[in-house]
Amino acid sequence: MKRLHEILAFNKEFVRKKEFEAYKTSKFPDKKLVIVSCMDTRLSDLLLKAMNLKNGDAKIIKSAGATVTHPFGSAMRSILVAIYELQAEEICVIAHDGCGMAGIHPEKTIQTMIERGVPRDTIDTIERCGFHLKDWLSGFDSLEESVKQSVDLIRNHPLMLPDIPVHGLIIDPETGRLDTIVEGY
Ligand SMILES: [Zn+2]
Repeated sequence: MKRLHEILAFNKEFVRKKEFEAYKTSKFPDKKLVIVSCMDTRLSDLLLKAMNLKNGDAKIIKSAGATVTHPFGSAMRSILVAIYELQAEEICVIAHDGCGMAGIHPEKTIQTMIERGVPRDTIDTIERCGFHLKDWLSGFDSLEESVKQSVDLIRNHPLMLPDIPVHGLIIDPETGRLDTIVEGY
């Protein structure tokens, strides 16, 4: 069975057996919290459990490296919507040890794109249009610096309210241990 068909078959049963009832909540985060975290698969469940959070407690925004890189990009937009529309009052940026975005080489990623069939012309055209593909695809060298940069970007955003605390943390994806890099109070 193909992956999607497997998922849909399971889903039919999930709904039929009313297994959703265990997850009932509202669109508002019960703990008034926004979390910006990495898409790392090890964190899917662990992050919530290690923070004593359950379904419905927090707005969780996932991006590779837990980075907020653009002041008017989709991650920042989500944060602002969470605050102004969904009653969130506090923000945690949570990166993790052993992140795939640490020391990533954009040249290598672009080379892989070409090997997998993206025409080199397409890459050149994008660059020629003034879009810096290499910057866009780049990761970070220092995890702590990256967390601080994202916290600063959110903290100093012209649309951010001064009374919203913005914290920066690093989680160990093996043990769930949290280290505070920036305390926003
Ligand atoms: Zn990561």
